Amino acid sequence: MQAFYLISLRFLSSNFNKKMEHKLSTKCVHAGGHHKGRGVNQAIETSSAFRYRNQKVVYPRYFNTSNQNATVNKLCALENGDNGLLFASGMAAISTVLYGFLKPGDHILVSSHVYGGTYNLVKGKFKNEGIQFDLIDGVFAADFEAEVKPNTKVIYIETPSNPLLTLLDVEGIAKMAKDKGIITVIDNTFASPINQRPLELGIDIVIHSGTKYLGGHSDLCFGAAIMREKCFEAVYKQAICLGGSINALDTYLIDRSLKTLDLRVSRQTENAMVIAKGLEEREFIGKVYYPGLETHENHDLARKQMHGFGAMLSFELNLEDAYQRDAFFDHLDLVTPAVSLGGVETLVCEPVATSHVLMPKSERDALGIFDHLLRLSVGIEAPSDILADIDQAVKKALQANWIA
Ligand SMILES: *Cc1c(COP(=O)(O)O)cnc(C)c1O
Repeated sequence: MQAFYLISLRFLSSNFNKKMEHKLSTKCVHAGGHHKGRGVNQAIETSSAFRYRNQKVVYPRYFNTSNQNATVNKLCALENGDNGLLFASGMAAISTVLYGFLKPGDHILVSSHVYGGTYNLVKGKFKNEGIQFDLIDGVFAADFEAEVKPNTKVIYIETPSNPLLTLLDVEGIAKMAKDKGIITVIDNTFASPINQRPLELGIDIVIHSGTKYLGGHSDLCFGAAIMREKCFEAVYKQAICLGGSINALDTYLIDRSLKTLDLRVSRQTENAMVIAKGLEEREFIGKVYYPGLETHENHDLARKQMHGFGAMLSFELNLEDAYQRDAFFDHLDLVTPAVSLGGVETLVCEPVATSHVLMPKSERDALGIFDHLLRLSVGIEAPSDILADIDQAVKKALQANWIA
């Protein structure tokens, strides 16, 4: 009864406007709605207190304000989901979803290629809380199926992964899990709905760190979980308890960002292919990891399950030593050394100094995450300018060493 009441809170307040029949670029602009008066933009309603007499109860932490509903509806349209929630960060979305389905004594299978924060949640917290887990270092359904236990409740994957852009077989894993009644959750941050729509491949819940491509301008921090209706009640009940909701000003900004999602990500994806090919040709570059390259070990899988190869890539910068690598970073003009990804500006980072800093060097080396591996988040600048910037920084880095 209480559960029904909670669900109805969310539903009564939503004006679903999924425009399923439209193309993605159209949905980016038009889905969601909540216009007031004659304005063409989402109207911002700042209240945290709402009149309730004879009306449904509305409250930000019930995730049911008109702004939350409008932006969630747009994301549902983009991912082809039934329902969803917006959170204050990607980790709030991830933790809320997982705690929604896992209690002491339950078991979860987690890809070993997940985001560091997710890895910390699983390894650092689940163990103490009596939630059992196994980490799976495999691509296909069989790799996961081999470790399924009678108490396995959730399979959690992320593809493409950070930083080597390893892919997992989304459709195969989803089908295997469905046959066994296991909930599947995917972190779709790197691909965005423009390049990969996991619900269409059979996955139950799609999570985003919206901080990345969905926001797209390196100025927002939020998360989203978009899902099948059957999963919603469990996640919603947990979300109200944990309270990771978001305010009206941010939901408005997210909606504004999403209007250009297809435009941005499509261009970033095109640019990434040009840059990946350009880097491959350069003498001072070793291995390039990009799912769009035929040399990538999961290229065929990428063709099968992705609509585009994305705008994240990694490459080995073959300079003499750390001194020259430092000089390279110092001499970059356009490409910005910064943590995070998905914005309109091209960012570069060293996984060994950022995302994988806590991993022992021997483990990193075994995975191929060497000290000279750099990760590039490709922006919307002209790819020729980005390549030229890398070239000039390498040239100066080499001279710096020579002068010294
Ligand atoms: C950044 C990131 C997260 C965490 O998101 P926050 O918004 O920082 O909480 C989760 N997954 C992936 C793949 C990410 O890149």
